[in-house]
Amino acid sequence: MSLTLADARIVTPEGVHDGWLTIEDGRITHIGRGSAPRDGHSLGGRHVVPGFVDIHNHGGAGGSFPTGEQDRARQAVALHERHGTTTMIASLVTGTTDELAAAASSLAELCDDGLLAGIHFEGPYISKARCGAHNPALLREPTPQEFTTLVEAGRGHVRMLTIAPELPGALDTIRAAVAQGVIAALGHSDATFEQTLEGVEAGASVATHLYNAMPALGHRAPGPVAALLEDERVTVELINDGVHVHPAMLRLAFAVAGPRRTALITDAMAATGMGDGTYVLGSMEVSVTDGVARLVEGGSIAGSTLTMDVAFRRAVREVGLSLPEAVQVASLTPARVLGLDGEVGSIAVGRFADLVVLDNSLEVAGVMKRGSWITEP
Ligand SMILES: [Zn+2]
Repeated sequence: MSLTLADARIVTPEGVHDGWLTIEDGRITHIGRGSAPRDGHSLGGRHVVPGFVDIHNHGGAGGSFPTGEQDRARQAVALHERHGTTTMIASLVTGTTDELAAAASSLAELCDDGLLAGIHFEGPYISKARCGAHNPALLREPTPQEFTTLVEAGRGHVRMLTIAPELPGALDTIRAAVAQGVIAALGHSDATFEQTLEGVEAGASVATHLYNAMPALGHRAPGPVAALLEDERVTVELINDGVHVHPAMLRLAFAVAGPRRTALITDAMAATGMGDGTYVLGSMEVSVTDGVARLVEGGSIAGSTLTMDVAFRRAVREVGLSLPEAVQVASLTPARVLGLDGEVGSIAVGRFADLVVLDNSLEVAGVMKRGSWITEP
């Protein structure tokens, strides 16, 4: 089965050009400039960008990945797919060993089905001082035994661990994670600049939502932010919802780390795509007002109600990125973090036909995953 998309404005990391592309068996087989050589589905001059890749996402449509409930998780994935996310990992939050292992084991089946690209343990090895919406009573120091139990529960699908490098045993755990093919991400941390660099030396390569849940950038105490931004080995996650991070700080991060080391994430929770109200994130009660999620107790920001299309649009409109740069931070760089950039994250011959069609105001007009329309433009 072959499909040609014609009259498209195709956005690649190199630039934007008018042309067409052909899809066969779920993959892009030809990309051309100008008029298509044969009749195709005309996109009427609309933009086509690669499907978004979200490496930090707790759910949506009322479903919360930390519960491990498969039907609700499928609804969450479907919601994010309609908003252009064609590759995502499920982020859990701090829980007991049994809770985390059960959720990972359940979600591993959705990874087997290709709905999820992996599982992310955000916690439980994080700082009490910077725990945000994680249950402080369940935070603990890492042990090799527990970490192995969690990784095994995910049956090869555990992709990421967020950990605070200053905790006793953290550096050994980072090394163990990397040795098992798990990306170590530093975050929910009270580390100094130096402690953060030790974490990177041990093998950590991602900053979990830079700026949020870590000490602020200070001119005498640069802290994790400066260490993570400056180090060429680290990709920084940013929540671009206009609530978590000021656009000026996004520009600052982007100016230092550039599109190659910046990944937009949603950190979305169950309320995404739903109305305001009361929800849970792990074991914590969360109240959502005007789309902003906060813990009922204490008022900490508790994830977001962001979708990647909004993060992308804001990156262009509020942060000032070009379309090719926005595509890089929303698709290619996060795909590279996951080691999936040979399959997804860019519009190129041989890649999966994971595509988002955007109208002139950069709203989603259509989404294709593996060559099949999720919403047809
Ligand atoms: Zn999170």
